[in-house]
Amino acid sequence: MPIPNYLRTIAYLEKSKNHFTTFHLKCICGCTLFDVYESYLDKKEKDLCQPYYDALDHSVTGGCFSNCTKDENGNIHHWIYFTHSINGPREEVIIPPEPFFAHIKVIKIQCSKCGKEYIIYDSRYNGYSGMFCTECSEEQKKYIPHFKLKKRRDHSPVEVCIEVEHDESLEAFKENTGIDCSFDEYTDAYTCITIYSIDTN
Ligand SMILES: [Zn+2]
Repeated sequence: MPIPNYLRTIAYLEKSKNHFTTFHLKCICGCTLFDVYESYLDKKEKDLCQPYYDALDHSVTGGCFSNCTKDENGNIHHWIYFTHSINGPREEVIIPPEPFFAHIKVIKIQCSKCGKEYIIYDSRYNGYSGMFCTECSEEQKKYIPHFKLKKRRDHSPVEVCIEVEHDESLEAFKENTGIDCSFDEYTDAYTCITIYSIDTN
């Protein structure tokens, strides 16, 4: 299985087995040690997400059981029931729209020698769902994440190893999804990515 196109210039030590490909990362300067940064939501953003998560939580745990119905206009309604009967008393839970930034996750690495940065995962654009499932809105595209350094105990930079999974060959992918994509697009549309950081210990 292939290395994602957007990581090809910095991949080395490739190994491939069944559906999985693993490789290490090397900066174009030759250095293999990086600082790893992960995006996070700041307090203001978290506060904006809270009503959405509270409503979701209430829709699951607020009654004996819950379900959804669709009205004649196609709108979904969430209900919680206060007894074990579907004909018993119920209450509608209004779930506010999910803030557009709630599920954006970006991982970047910075070379410890020359300082060059690489985005190694962006949920908006990479992987199967990033590429083909959800159309990014303009505000999602414009959103600039906040990053925090993933600190090791000894604060030293790390080697980075990535494993990606492709469920099927390009031909099977095209046939099963009906998506006519190039080989490079297919390589970026992995099903799963795991990012490992490895310290000298
Ligand atoms: Zn470098």
